[in-house]
Amino acid sequence: MRRIVSIIIAGLTLTFVACAKPMPAQTEYVLGTLCTINLYEKGKPELYRTLFSRLREIEDHMSVNKDDTELDRVNAAAGREAVTVHADVIDVLSAALHYAELSGGAFDPTVGPLVKLWGIGTDNARVPAPEEINKVLPLINWKDVELDQAQRTVFLKRPGMALDLGAIAKGYAADEIARILKKNQIERAIIDLGGNVLAYGQKQGGKNWRIGVQDPAGERGAYVGILEIKNKTMVTSGVYERFLIKDGVRYHHILSTVDGYPVQNKLLSVTIVTDRSIDADGLSTTVFALGYEKGKALLESLGNAEGIFIFDDGTLRATAGVRSSFTVTSERYRWAD
Ligand code: ADP
Ligand code: MG
Repeated sequence: MRRIVSIIIAGLTLTFVACAKPMPAQTEYVLGTLCTINLYEKGKPELYRTLFSRLREIEDHMSVNKDDTELDRVNAAAGREAVTVHADVIDVLSAALHYAELSGGAFDPTVGPLVKLWGIGTDNARVPAPEEINKVLPLINWKDVELDQAQRTVFLKRPGMALDLGAIAKGYAADEIARILKKNQIERAIIDLGGNVLAYGQKQGGKNWRIGVQDPAGERGAYVGILEIKNKTMVTSGVYERFLIKDGVRYHHILSTVDGYPVQNKLLSVTIVTDRSIDADGLSTTVFALGYEKGKALLESLGNAEGIFIFDDGTLRATAGVRSSFTVTSERYRWAD
């Protein structure tokens, strides 16, 4: 009898310890990528559930990989009528139009028809014929988007136009997660939406987070180096995320709005460090599309955004504010200056 009692007590203790222990980091496939959230000591099932359902909600509003999203309705009504959309879409689209303006259209949320034509990252990926590209290029112009903030409507002026917010939606989603965490008085978390990382708060003891920057030419999880940040977000755009190899040629997914082909400028990746993830995400694609000289000049003119540039000859450059926070750990890479 004593033995049974002690077994029961041991069982109860185990159950108690198991309940009190925080839930480990949670990963789900949302927004077209693996999303991991780590709430550390505050990891509770209901909070994780709230966060992931918010991610799915954002996906439902603006993914192009799902049918019947709000974005689909806007695209289907191109040239015909304005469509009322959720505030999420308004927020993301206005940020996208801001980066379109800043980059003189190198970043352009109306790149949809071109993205669809290439299909990079989908089962229909292919190299389009030049005439197909030339046909869709005139449809790409952010100035033909009419956004009415007050009415919450979007109108694409010409038939055939299509929005693609893939370059910026994950940044918005990460900011939304951070907003919910703040509301719940959570002090620290790592939000990693497919490499779009928001290091929320600081590590226990006030230490910096140490985040690896993916080696654009290496295996997934192989790093060029380590970035030390706190309460900042780090987003990378690169040639390695989605691509298609045809006849030995590699085609990646950031497309030139000028010639319709993947941008080629010796960059393998650009990592942006900012306060808001929507800015880091918007800028990572923008700066990649602009190339090193113009991209760096843009970052410097903004003042609160830093960048790390990785080139195809294995060299690295960075803006002044981030250089000392980044340590190169891979032997394949070195600072250019
Ligand atoms: P990822 O989505 O892999 O994190 P990015 O944030 O750089 O990478 O976004 C790339 C996506 O942006 C492409 O898959 C495409 O949907 C879209 N895109 C491609 N070219 C452009 C462009 N010139 N301007 C705006 N969006 C673009
Ligand atoms: Mg981006």
